[in-house]
Amino acid sequence: MSNVVIEVKDLVKYFPIKGGIFQKTIANVKAVDGVSFHMNKGETFGLVGESGCGKTTVGRCVLRLVEPTKGKIIFKGTDITNMKDKELRRLRPKMQIIFQDPYSSLNPRLTIKDIIGEAMVYHGIVSSRDATKRVKELLQLVGLSEEHINRYPHEFSGGQRQRICIARALSTEPDLIVCDEAVSALDVSIQSQILKLLEELQQRLGVTYLFISHALNVVKYISHRIGVMYLGKIVEIAQSEELYLNPLHPYTKALISAVPVPNPKLRRQKIILVGDVPSPINPPQGCRFVTRCPYSMKICGEIEPQLREVGTEHWVACHLYLNQ
Ligand code: SF4
Repeated sequence: MSNVVIEVKDLVKYFPIKGGIFQKTIANVKAVDGVSFHMNKGETFGLVGESGCGKTTVGRCVLRLVEPTKGKIIFKGTDITNMKDKELRRLRPKMQIIFQDPYSSLNPRLTIKDIIGEAMVYHGIVSSRDATKRVKELLQLVGLSEEHINRYPHEFSGGQRQRICIARALSTEPDLIVCDEAVSALDVSIQSQILKLLEELQQRLGVTYLFISHALNVVKYISHRIGVMYLGKIVEIAQSEELYLNPLHPYTKALISAVPVPNPKLRRQKIILVGDVPSPINPPQGCRFVTRCPYSMKICGEIEPQLREVGTEHWVACHLYLNQ
């Protein structure tokens, strides 16, 4: 049996811009423009890039929270790209999401018991009679006390709320959890606690994470493999350690050069990118990074580089590596 939980093939998501008296589509925001990757069971695949690069849209398309414009999403061997709502509802428990903001993602009027128990009862995973017992087990699993069960979200700190969000995501026994900037709103010390918790839960339950973040150091800590996104495209994919030690794409190199090094004796030369990220409405011809790349050549503005494997499980989309 295949180990692949999710396969994304040539995913495209355009958001139309309407204008004129007839509200016709006058342009498209090309948020995601031909993204492909896969995730194995029990793996964390990190998706990193500046805000606006399309990584959150990829996460939402994978869960079918937004409809893809083109491409395919295959979940455990089943093509879910055009699956009807009724069928999709059956699969929903197996695909969950943890959002960035643990404050706004919990309903302030519900108790923790209802917040965590609601989905598993709705999907028939446990009966309403057994829900309390299961919620208590989940609270313990995420490092909270079962005494918290009748409290409300406002009685918890940010880190505790994110633990509640994790318990809620786990309540339906998912195969895949999309963690969308799941630790970005937390203090650094709390971030590391939540990352450790996610890791432990993965080892115990074998769940797969799509971990989306703009912070490369966070993504590197938790991910087995990382995809780097720029302006709607994945420009590099590699094992986490390999990407960090041997970045190939000029954009990845610039991202890594900006990560602080914990050793004061070691200094990394920071690569400062010039110019702004171009508009996703009208991205550059050829390579999308051409307007900011310190190594750009004539071919870069003419032909779009494709992702090619240039080392073991190391893929890059850049004309500098054409002959490897
Ligand atoms: Fe730079 Fe050209 Fe490589 Fe794009 S293809 S990253 S412009 S060298």
